Amino acid sequence: MANVAFRNVRKAFGPVEVLHGVDVDIEDGEFVVLVGPSGCGKSTLLRMLAGLENITAGDITIGNRVVNQVPPKDRDIAMVFQNYALYPHMTVFDNMAFSMKLAKAPKAVMESEVARAAKILGLEQLLQRYPRQLSGGQRQRVAMGRAIVRNPQVFLFDEPLSNLDAKLRVQMRAEIKELHQRLKVTTVYVTHDQIEAMTMADKIVVMNSGNVEQAGRPLELYDTPANLFVAGFIGSPA
Ligand code: ADP
Ligand code: MG
Repeated sequence: MANVAFRNVRKAFGPVEVLHGVDVDIEDGEFVVLVGPSGCGKSTLLRMLAGLENITAGDITIGNRVVNQVPPKDRDIAMVFQNYALYPHMTVFDNMAFSMKLAKAPKAVMESEVARAAKILGLEQLLQRYPRQLSGGQRQRVAMGRAIVRNPQVFLFDEPLSNLDAKLRVQMRAEIKELHQRLKVTTVYVTHDQIEAMTMADKIVVMNSGNVEQAGRPLELYDTPANLFVAGFIGSPA
């Protein structure tokens, strides 16, 4: 596990600055939700933490180590995306073992790590199936399984439930929270859904137009919003 910090982080794409000096502190083992309207910079912030975008200015630290120049594979992070990004031509087992295969892990290690993740997620009976033979919720579990086998210090989720129907979304929220309670891995979870933020977060970071408006526990933001934006965003029905 590790703490994470953004220190005055800026991001520009060409002449356009989209993050204007973001400060966020995430404690070891904390479940933090970044929430804000579409286009406010949530994915960009997450991608910079993963090392998939470079940082224009400022520092990002993971476990008190500045990682600005550290390549993604050396950051000890696993990311779960909205569109699952499963390999359609690979079985569930091979999808989950893929990163270990790349790292040339021994077969026995791959098998035991996949078995461990499959057990946590209830995928034991599905390891020989292909993604097209799975439901949306099962695919989402495989995507999480792929992250779990890497034993990361930090989990990143970018709107992982937005392709699921309402009922499944509620169920998967609970599963992701349960996963967090079991593994206690520091988690940064992006959503534009305020209900998701309120029900899942230890701490919510409310973003708007490339700035952090407020960070705090869900009830803290609900009871004492820092400004009208936070009040409107957190207080409004989904
Ligand atoms: P969110 O995830 O909150 O919807 P993003 O982080 O995807 O927002 O985008 C933040 C802003 O940065 C948006 O204005 C978006 O158009 C812009 N942006 C994101 N990626 C790129 C890119 N590769 N090139 C140019 N602009 C980008
Ligand atoms: Mg996004």
